[in-house]
Amino acid sequence: MYVVTGATGQLGRLVVDGLLAKVPASEVAVVVRSAGKAADLAERGVTVRVADYSRPESLAGAFAAGDKVLLISGSEIGSRVPQHTAVVEAARAAGVSLLAYTSAPGVATFKLADEHKATEAVIRESGLPFALLRNGWYTENYLGDAAGTVERGAVVGSAGQDGRIATAPRRDYADAAVAVLTGEGHESAVYELSGDAAWSLPELAAELALASGRPVAFHEVAPEEHLRILVGAGLPEGFAEILVDVDAGIARGELAGTPGDLARLIGRPTVPLARSVREALGA
Ligand code: NDP
Repeated sequence: MYVVTGATGQLGRLVVDGLLAKVPASEVAVVVRSAGKAADLAERGVTVRVADYSRPESLAGAFAAGDKVLLISGSEIGSRVPQHTAVVEAARAAGVSLLAYTSAPGVATFKLADEHKATEAVIRESGLPFALLRNGWYTENYLGDAAGTVERGAVVGSAGQDGRIATAPRRDYADAAVAVLTGEGHESAVYELSGDAAWSLPELAAELALASGRPVAFHEVAPEEHLRILVGAGLPEGFAEILVDVDAGIARGELAGTPGDLARLIGRPTVPLARSVREALGA
């Protein structure tokens, strides 16, 4: 079986779609914490196993011998190392044949990457056959409110004029995960996944302006000002601090790598920023 955890999330749904385009639904299982959220997947013939990363006992029946598993990292920042450890332990006890994990770029030193590094260590120590999918940034991180950004006429950030980000849309990372799960020879592989081209926040503003026909500029702010803006917009302070810290990492070039691993795995170029911007704006 191909087993996807976090399958009711945004990346997970795309991975399941990709798997179902390649293999029969009878070979696909999902591990989700809400069976109700996965009802549509069950209707498509996917096996639904219910478990919560936070409840190790619930993971006992999540995997079976020989499964090829994609562990999609959890979204509860600060709790993820024990959560992922519980998943790895369940996968080891079951005897899965591959554990692929959605990690963070190897060069990242921002705090958000710490739990990924710790999880990678747990996976290596488990002795399981593994593949590390070190996902770079999703393009969607910048386009969730593309229309609002155009309306305000400003891309705001503290990554500087030259901080570059090699993003790709979730669809590309999902296709890479499908390629690793369904392909051969990925044991012990470490993939640094990123878009083919890196862009800066001023370039993002220019793309938004081009696609919308409206003026959009990059408004560079200092980290303290960035934090104040994010908290003012309603983000919890802890999460806002994490995002500002990521921008510092971007300014250091930690999300700018373009080694080409993602394009090679998916067998096509990654989706460029300009296309994602046009799609987000319906232009
Ligand atoms: P989502 O938040 O859409 O999905 C996260 C998934 O993890 C959901 O299915 C969620 O379940 C599941 N999950 C969270 N906590 C638990 C738990 N305790 N037990 C079982 N399942 C759990 O994120 P994305 O799909 O967009 O991204 C996937 C992961 O990638 C994120 O969780 C995060 O670790 C990381 N990420 C990467 C980014 C990047 O740019 N590279 C940006 C943002 C996140 P449920 O559906 O029930 O909520």
